[in-house]
Amino acid sequence: MAESSGPAQADLDKCVHCGLCLNACPTYRELGIEMDSPRGRIYQMNQVASGAPITDTYIRHLDLCLACRGCETACPSGVPYGRLIEDAREQIRSQEKPSWLTRLTRALVFQKLLPSRTSLQLAGTLLYLYQVSGLQRLVRFTGVLKLFGKLSNLEALTPNAEAPFFYSKIGKTFPALGERRYRVGFLAGCIANVAFARLNEATVRVLQRNGCEVVIPAAQNCCGALHLHSGLADQARALARNNIDVFLGEDFDALITNAAGCGSTLKEYDHLLHADPAYRDRALAFKEKMKDITEFLASIELNPEMGPVDAVATYQDSCHLAHGQKIRVAPRKLLKAIPGLRFREMPMADLCCGSAGIYNIVQSEMANQILQRKMEFVATTKASLIVTANPGCMLQLSAGARLYGSGQRVAHVVEVLDEAYKAYDAALSRETKKAIAS
Ligand code: SF4
Ligand code: SF4
Repeated sequence: MAESSGPAQADLDKCVHCGLCLNACPTYRELGIEMDSPRGRIYQMNQVASGAPITDTYIRHLDLCLACRGCETACPSGVPYGRLIEDAREQIRSQEKPSWLTRLTRALVFQKLLPSRTSLQLAGTLLYLYQVSGLQRLVRFTGVLKLFGKLSNLEALTPNAEAPFFYSKIGKTFPALGERRYRVGFLAGCIANVAFARLNEATVRVLQRNGCEVVIPAAQNCCGALHLHSGLADQARALARNNIDVFLGEDFDALITNAAGCGSTLKEYDHLLHADPAYRDRALAFKEKMKDITEFLASIELNPEMGPVDAVATYQDSCHLAHGQKIRVAPRKLLKAIPGLRFREMPMADLCCGSAGIYNIVQSEMANQILQRKMEFVATTKASLIVTANPGCMLQLSAGARLYGSGQRVAHVVEVLDEAYKAYDAALSRETKKAIAS
């Protein structure tokens, strides 16, 4: 890996040390330690930029950052904190000498598993067998994985493998229901094809209901977000180039993702590839078309043929949607359009839930602390349904509902819309049967 020069001095210099970001930082709120605040982390990045060595302490403080970008929203000086932390992590990764085990794990996860549909499908099948065979119940009951430290956290947060996986839909085109108003390309994700297959299906259905022909190109791949958050920018760039080639190769009105974490990275391909003259402009064209599903649906005339969804619901902003993409109104607007749904805002809805990619696995103690706090905010609304806009947040909040909540149901905005459309169909079919019978 080529040595990275770290955060740009011009970005670092934007910080005027005012501290207005501190209250928006989950790790500072929990620990009250300056070095675990945005301002403190920027101070440390500045030290390294001035020639200080990269020490274990520096790495620890930066690793504890969720990269949630809550500080970026709060900052009045426009400090691009998301870019700073990514660049700083890339610099750390480029200089560290990881153990053979870390190298092997990274190679397996980031080079073999995430970019390969075949490997993910195989891993998903093994996970499915582990879960349906009763082995998972046995492992959890005996607590045997506690002997292996982080493996126990990983197992506790492992999503359900949702068979049949979404892979059979990749490479297909789904027609608009009624008049075709748009032609959109859908980015199906990587792990989502195994763990959120039903969410992906709901997304396609809701788009179809809203006059979209949905194309799911076969040659697309993982967006590279997890690579990037782990400081593996070269691998993220290779994945980005392929996605740009695939999606700009066809004529789409919009490119859609239902994962806010992926969307944030997809919309920043221009930064990722800014030093690549062959892709710089293409990355910008790609970014122009890239839309989160909630952003897209809220921007068009929404099909109002919805039946009631009877629930009290609250909405947890996904950091990568609220802070990364500045989208807050769209998901709320969609939820408020659903008949029967009573929407209640929770305090500090845009404070991170502790999910943050693989943060809840590698920094499980802090992630749990943050999650517990989040569930206290949820409880004030008395909601039975927690809605969010990112698969990672859904997993974390489901764990929160189980561990610290009252077993609330967790769903993506698009799944609640899908339920409303299904309720409409069910009511229509009841009416039709009644009319035939009378
Ligand atoms: S990205 Fe989130 S955790 Fe990191 S410094 Fe900013 S607010 Fe704190
Ligand atoms: S990051 Fe922004 S809000 Fe935080 S201390 Fe620096 S200038 Fe102030």
